[in-house]
Amino acid sequence: MRYKRLDEVIADVLTHNGAVLSRNEEDGSLEVLAPPDVSKVLKIPEYTRLRFSYDEISDGTIYASFDSEFFISLGKLFSGRGRFSIASCESYTPNIEKLSKLISEKITFSNATFRLGKSEVKNISYLLFYFKYVALSDEKREGILPLLINEVNLSILPFEHGATDLKEMEDELKDIERHEIKKVFQSAYSASARLVEEELRDFIKSLDRRLNRDIRRVYEYYGTLKKETKRALKKKALANAMSELNLLQEMREHASSDTMREIERLQQDIDSRIEKQIEDRTIKGDGLDKLFDKIDVIEAERKWKIQDLVAKYALNIKIEPVSTIRIDTQSIVFWINIKRRLSSRQFPITFNPMTRQIDALPCESCFNPRKPYYVCDDRLHIICARCFKTCPDCGKKYCIACYNICPKCRKRRESAR
Ligand SMILES: [Zn+2]
Ligand SMILES: [Zn+2]
Ligand SMILES: [Zn+2]
Repeated sequence: MRYKRLDEVIADVLTHNGAVLSRNEEDGSLEVLAPPDVSKVLKIPEYTRLRFSYDEISDGTIYASFDSEFFISLGKLFSGRGRFSIASCESYTPNIEKLSKLISEKITFSNATFRLGKSEVKNISYLLFYFKYVALSDEKREGILPLLINEVNLSILPFEHGATDLKEMEDELKDIERHEIKKVFQSAYSASARLVEEELRDFIKSLDRRLNRDIRRVYEYYGTLKKETKRALKKKALANAMSELNLLQEMREHASSDTMREIERLQQDIDSRIEKQIEDRTIKGDGLDKLFDKIDVIEAERKWKIQDLVAKYALNIKIEPVSTIRIDTQSIVFWINIKRRLSSRQFPITFNPMTRQIDALPCESCFNPRKPYYVCDDRLHIICARCFKTCPDCGKKYCIACYNICPKCRKRRESAR
């Protein structure tokens, strides 16, 4: 899946507001002929060129990347107060019979069945969000994620189509509606978080890889230092035990083969005693304390180094909506009756006139569209595999839209109290 580049999103927004554009394929800049009101709002000449990278000579072109004034002013095009606008989309009437068949084939639940009920033509609306994300670690990644969310059933689609063939109608939402679409906003947010994570999967993998590599290097480096210091410790300790060792040496010179074995055993005893004393730090003597201090320093330094690395590669992702367009349209809603054990639930399935496809099922917990889907026991939520959790303690599967911890384990804990 490919998300739109910033220049593509800006081109969409400008076209949507009546500008005429042409792209210079050589340097990627955009030639813009903007209507007077747009030029006034954006504070740009009616005829201008936008560029998207720093390293070009500023020959009267306008810099338009994420950190530009132009980009910030772009938000003003989305109505005076919020960055919200409303558009309409022509309805498209598909063949209902074909669609019914498609629904029966395409929609499946891993642990439930459904029956297709009545269908109706309805006025429905979608929200098209443009989310901007910035992922910050030792490197920076940023991009725009367009998401289309269906207000009827909160089905979400990473949206690759432009908003260019939409007719803008009015700018404001009524207050009541604002309240109602709060849930739609929250769902879109929730989905965007996971989709951005997926989009950044390679980046995150490379971060992990580099972190692990650097941690290994730190362990190797300090491991060697520590080994060397321990070797020096043992050498010193053996020197301190010289009188004992000399005695053994003397005995060796006059020993029979039987006593020789006994001497070897004694030698080994001294060796392991010293090693144990070093390990337990019970050995005292000339210069040994300094070496023990050195080991402490090595260990502390290694700890700091690891903490530094973890901080260096920590990933911070910020996501914010840049603009929202509500798209009103008319389409067909199919009702399905989901059956799980003895319960059932009606759920609307929608045909999307923009993509001319049936909207995917939503996961009603994370809203990230991903098969396979399950249906929960209690409230018959539709949830993805990730949100149908298996309890690590008792193995029970539970819906995280219903419970934030395993209900079986919670009950057991409560009754034990
Ligand atoms: Zn989910
Ligand atoms: Zn459990
Ligand atoms: Zn549930």
